[in-house]
Amino acid sequence: MEPVIETQNICKSYSLGSESIPVLKDINLTVARGEFISLMGPSGSGKTTLMNIIGLLDKSSDGTYSLNGRDVTDLSEDDHAMIRNREIGFVFQSFNLLPRSNVLKNVELPLLYSGIESSPQRARDLLERVGMSDRLHHLPQELSGGQRQRVAIARALVNDPSIVLADEPTGNLDSRTGEEIMEIFAELNSQGKTIIMVTHEEEIARHAKRTVRLKDGSIIA
Ligand code: ADP
Ligand code: MG
Repeated sequence: MEPVIETQNICKSYSLGSESIPVLKDINLTVARGEFISLMGPSGSGKTTLMNIIGLLDKSSDGTYSLNGRDVTDLSEDDHAMIRNREIGFVFQSFNLLPRSNVLKNVELPLLYSGIESSPQRARDLLERVGMSDRLHHLPQELSGGQRQRVAIARALVNDPSIVLADEPTGNLDSRTGEEIMEIFAELNSQGKTIIMVTHEEEIARHAKRTVRLKDGSIIA
């Protein structure tokens, strides 16, 4: 199976004064199209840093990264932004919805940035798919956490990305709501999306088909 994500010896360090603090050390990760991976590890082990590099929100300090068969390591920030908008959907622990925009507007917004031609119906269809079609004109503050995360998932899908990256998507949800969100991820995966999800809950990680464990910036399993 063709890899969608391939990192070779990815390293990341932050400088603190004159010191360089390594956060990721020689990360070699290959993810095939259609995989569903959970990324686990203690707090501070580098999970978010790795997700940000995979999602082209951040650059590695060393190593190479190929996305959909193309070496993207040294592309410009603009190129990264373009690839990110088209290929990657993000879901965050804190939902990151725009508070003053209604549900429909939140989901439509990424279409503006991507320049992808899309029918006006697309955002509505996705909101229907996540069970939110009766809340199109509500503001985020008028929704429960689980409902907000459903909207955030619809937003992540609006540009039809090949990859969905979710950083602790159930971290702010009770366990039953978390399970409902995981059912949506499982369904997306069965429809062909490649998913990488950070979690520290074993119960949640069970929904993935493979678990990658990070510790102190290294993959240990
Ligand atoms: P995790 O998501 O696994 O909890 P992170 O990737 O957020 O871990 O962070 C890994 C380590 O990198 C932590 O020690 C954190 O303090 C450090 N770190 C993250 N971002 C920065 C930054 N912008 N500047 C300096 N250190 C950072
Ligand atoms: Mg994190």
